[in-house]
Amino acid sequence: MPDRIQRAVRYWLFLLGKLLLGTAFTGGLLWLVNLFWEPRTPLLHLAPYRFGYDLLYTTIIGGVFLIAYGLAYLAILDQRYRCRVCLRRLRMPIETGSWSLMLQLGRPRIEYICIYGHGKLNVEEIQFTGTENPAWEQHSDMWEELFAGAKDGPGAGADDNGVRR
Ligand SMILES: [Zn+2]
Repeated sequence: MPDRIQRAVRYWLFLLGKLLLGTAFTGGLLWLVNLFWEPRTPLLHLAPYRFGYDLLYTTIIGGVFLIAYGLAYLAILDQRYRCRVCLRRLRMPIETGSWSLMLQLGRPRIEYICIYGHGKLNVEEIQFTGTENPAWEQHSDMWEELFAGAKDGPGAGADDNGVRR
């Protein structure tokens, strides 16, 4: 299987894993809530004689629903800020661009990078046309590209005046 497809599969399986974990946690909460109400309810089911009739039970189930929704939201939000290659959290957010110097520097955005140099994510500061997907820009190794001139060690490549030896 090509490396690119393998990475994409791993990325989406990671999200699926987080969502399943959230589902399992919420299912456990529902099961725990159902333990306190008669009659016994099968696993992962609402008590049909309570829900909608018993205010306390309905309120608690509402809370469980909110927790489930929040966990799914957090899983997706977390996934957005992960490296597409190694799945680590993206770090070092910096603001780039400027509204007053837009023609020179571009629109304001926040740039995150993978600390292992796999790529960077550009998140627009203001989203004009609805929610815009952040742009992921992949690099083979950002650090190697940055220090390409200094491969022979510090001081090699150019002297203090910038003249190549
Ligand atoms: Zn990475």
